[in-house]
Amino acid sequence: MDEDLKTLKQWVEESSRIVFFGGAGVSTESGIPDFRSVDGLYNQQYDYPPETIISRSFFNRYPEEFYRFYRDKLLLSGVKPSRAHIALAKMERAGKLTAVVTQNIDGLHQDAGSKNVFELHGSTRRNYCMKCRRFFTDDDIRGMPLVPHCPCGGLIKPDVVLYEESLDDEVIEGSIRAIRSADMLIVGGTSLVVYPAAGLIRYFRGKHLVIINKTETPYSEEADLAIYGSVGEALEYAASGLTEEA
Ligand code: ZN
Repeated sequence: MDEDLKTLKQWVEESSRIVFFGGAGVSTESGIPDFRSVDGLYNQQYDYPPETIISRSFFNRYPEEFYRFYRDKLLLSGVKPSRAHIALAKMERAGKLTAVVTQNIDGLHQDAGSKNVFELHGSTRRNYCMKCRRFFTDDDIRGMPLVPHCPCGGLIKPDVVLYEESLDDEVIEGSIRAIRSADMLIVGGTSLVVYPAAGLIRYFRGKHLVIINKTETPYSEEADLAIYGSVGEALEYAASGLTEEA
């Protein structure tokens, strides 16, 4: 592991167009549960399975049940960026990293200071009125009744991509552009089995593909470097020598 970390650090220092592609593992280090891990949300008890509750048809039919789950499990308060979030923001400020592409919806990359973030599955920080398209923050939602409504009377929906919904074209296109022009792609904290992760990393044409995950992924073998461990520890070490631009 030590040799691998040194290699990662050296590559980060040599690169100038790094893209980070991240999944739940980046935020579990902030204490946010991973939907798909053994002790994650999927194994908790609800009247319906979480993947049913977080679907568009369920939201339309049972907004109360949806919002009960959403407020309880997804609209988290007081969560702080992890070492991974902080290291990535530092890489961006140092002129090394051009974009973060994330499957997470918690807004923690922006909290850490990252500017160019592509949120494939949307964000709990944004919510919009389905009637007049007015936007509301997560704090606005916290201050509203269980099922939040806009002053215009419209139902408010989190700007999160639910099951049965398609991803935003602009977010996908931006992610592809960033990955295609990257000289190094670091994939961290994702098992790479969730759509569209696997498809997106196929656009990478750069020098170094690095995968950091606790367990093996379908791409670990074709990676130039596969690190098995904490994504926060690896990124913190990799960014430790960087000087930030004024
Ligand atoms: Zn409205």
